Amino acid sequence: MSSLPVLVLNSGSSSIKFSVYEAGNGERTRLFEGAVDGIGTDLGKFWIKDAEGKKLVDQTPAVPTRAVAFKMVADALHSGDFPAPAAIGHRTVCGGPTITENQLITPQLIDEIESYAALAPLHTPIAVYIMREALKLFPGLPNFAILDTYFHRTLPEVAKHMPIPSEYVAMGVRRYGYHGISYESIIHQLEPNVPENLIVAHLGNGASISAIRNGKCLDTSMALTPTSGIISGSRTGDIDPGVLIFILKKIAETTPNTLEAADKLETVISKKSGLLGISELSNDMRDLRDAIKAGNAKARLAVDKFTWTIARWIGSYVAELNGLDMLVFTGGIGENDIAARAEICAGLGALGIVVDPERNNVRGEVTISAANSKVKVRVIPPLEDLIIVNHVVRLLGK
Ligand code: ADP
Repeated sequence: MSSLPVLVLNSGSSSIKFSVYEAGNGERTRLFEGAVDGIGTDLGKFWIKDAEGKKLVDQTPAVPTRAVAFKMVADALHSGDFPAPAAIGHRTVCGGPTITENQLITPQLIDEIESYAALAPLHTPIAVYIMREALKLFPGLPNFAILDTYFHRTLPEVAKHMPIPSEYVAMGVRRYGYHGISYESIIHQLEPNVPENLIVAHLGNGASISAIRNGKCLDTSMALTPTSGIISGSRTGDIDPGVLIFILKKIAETTPNTLEAADKLETVISKKSGLLGISELSNDMRDLRDAIKAGNAKARLAVDKFTWTIARWIGSYVAELNGLDMLVFTGGIGENDIAARAEICAGLGALGIVVDPERNNVRGEVTISAANSKVKVRVIPPLEDLIIVNHVVRLLGK
């Protein structure tokens, strides 16, 4: 195959991130990346920078809507200043129960993904909107849905199945798992020496952890929604269902409309909880570390809850895997928060996990386990866009 520019689109609630890779003959080169931030505000940011980090576009436009934001991206890519993309890969958080394979986007596929929007209400509406716009603004280009849930398709039924009445299971309620493209990128970087029993902790603003056997997902902490699993920046993680009912009843005292009350509950558990909820300060680990240095007890408790939860999860996954060869940290906290890695591993000596404080005193890719550690502990940054490009190239070749 000759060289071909592939556009990767990654859309969130207030931003559209994108990158363009030159792909061909096994080579992948990132040409540039960019983003429109601040969707829904007068104080947006639109930037594009090349592979060396030089800003090629740096603007502060008003970005009232997602349509305006995406048009900016499309106009820039059609301007002739950049190589025009030949194919597009859409990071797609959840395809629902029927769309489990990465594939070409058609109007029918978008309708199918949209029909399960209730399962991932924070992600699917944005994803399907951008897919429809991309088909309109880049006519004739093949668009592909690359799923975060794809990596978790190997979950055994016992991990996938929810202990709820079967009528809800039939509606698609089950463990899907997220951050799958990040997990795939870790496996990709470990190849050809993927350890038999591997645990990867993706610790970013959203946080999840997976148990992986021979490169295939055996279990993962996020379930139907990314709110589940370990606590993260502003999400509860797994919590007694009774807590949800208690909060919902409190909300219902002033919000009698059931759907409105459910939306408010959603905001509480996914935007106001986690590190932010406990610390009453910030969802950002850097702020919490500064506050801890200043003696803030709530920030200390928030971080302790975070590291404590992850250590418990690692313990349960060692039991599930029946052994552990390697533990990998990734994501913004996993790559940069040296103290979090030390705190998580501090009590795991009985599992064969020993971290060397000097080796750990580094940000970015590094092996941090001590020489006497039975389990190798590594820090590996994810390469999510590269994995999306690889899937697009594979699907184009079909
Ligand atoms: P997202 O899930 O939004 O992609 P990231 O993977 O970028 O998030 O991770 C964001 C988290 O990483 C934040 O909590 C941030 O504080 C944390 N982080 C980034 N740099 C550092 C650092 N130097 N020290 C501690 N935490 C950091």
